[in-house]
Amino acid sequence: MAAPLNLNDRARLEALGWTAALDAAWAGQPDGLVPGRVSLEHNHVYRVLTADAEWLAETAGKIKFEAEGRNELPAVGDWVGVRPDETGGRVQIRAILPRRSWFSRKAAGRGTTEQVLAANVDVVFLTFGLDIHVKERALERYLVVARRSGARAVIVLNKADISPDLAADVAEAVAVAGGAPVHAVCAKEPGGVAVLEKYLGAGVTLALLGPSGAGKSSITNALVGREVLPTGEVRDWDARGRHTSVHRELVVRERGGLLIDTPGMRELQLWGADDVVDTFADIAALAAGCKFRDCRHDREPGCAVKRAVEDGALDAARYAGYLKLQAEQETLERRVDERALIDAKRQGKIGSKALKSHYKLRDKNR
Ligand code: GDP
Ligand code: ZN
Repeated sequence: MAAPLNLNDRARLEALGWTAALDAAWAGQPDGLVPGRVSLEHNHVYRVLTADAEWLAETAGKIKFEAEGRNELPAVGDWVGVRPDETGGRVQIRAILPRRSWFSRKAAGRGTTEQVLAANVDVVFLTFGLDIHVKERALERYLVVARRSGARAVIVLNKADISPDLAADVAEAVAVAGGAPVHAVCAKEPGGVAVLEKYLGAGVTLALLGPSGAGKSSITNALVGREVLPTGEVRDWDARGRHTSVHRELVVRERGGLLIDTPGMRELQLWGADDVVDTFADIAALAAGCKFRDCRHDREPGCAVKRAVEDGALDAARYAGYLKLQAEQETLERRVDERALIDAKRQGKIGSKALKSHYKLRDKNR
């Protein structure tokens, strides 16, 4: 069992986001490990911040072999246990402590395993630029992603300086925010993001999510107080048109708080099912009146949701947004199911007959 942390180390770790819940998790780790937080990942090499050092790290073979998916590999923001290396070489990540929240996406390629993009995020700024009209549907989608992650969502409307009607923009966002705070800011003006400071207390980890060009890099730089990220004007692209800084990074603020910038989060896909229902609580409430308990509110007879749209009690655009999200969710789930079946077959757990009948059933249901 790991020895309790000394007070000095613990205080330094707290500045990196260590919490009381981690003390308990740490007690169960093997002796001889040092706790640290993953601040950067690049081609499976990690940078890990410990109480008094910074290490380059690799994942221990045991973790790699035992991982059933990429979500069981370390990610930026993870708390890990490393074995320090006397020679000053790369250390090994021997343990990943439980995550209190995480953002994930379908791993690149045809598979449907989950890849964690950022772990242990406390607050997420859902960031939009007011130079473009913020679509309510887009806001709802980002709220779904935020809710799924376990982080607290805050809606940030940037470029307040060029909004044609700021009051209307804010009111529209508040209407769909579902209780999440809404702030209008201006990253370009000195002090223009001061209202966001209160979310970045000591040890609080923040991530920014939102469409490209919304001002996420500008806000990050303003909050950190230096140019940690290139903004739209100066970002450079390599010969193949790829963004050159593809690494994911955790920035520790001198004033307290941490920011995670993960470019991958900019193309986040939905993952997880229940959140659609949570975000559309009004539709879930109406569904109690549907004739069929498993009504999809699409083509089923006796659907209370469709009736509400016809009566004008439910906004038709909101209903359409719901259907679109539901369809996406189902496609994703189907792929996950198929993947699991194919994997099971490969491992000889089921015969090809079961796979065939699955496809037949699926095609019949389409
Ligand atoms: P990102 O893609 O979300 O990281 O967005 P950037 O931070 O790169 O900003 C995109 C563009 O918007 C850049 O040209 C910024 O200079 C500009 N921008 C950022 N914040 C503001 C703002 O508050 N007002 C105005 N007018 N422009 C801004
Ligand atoms: Zn229905």
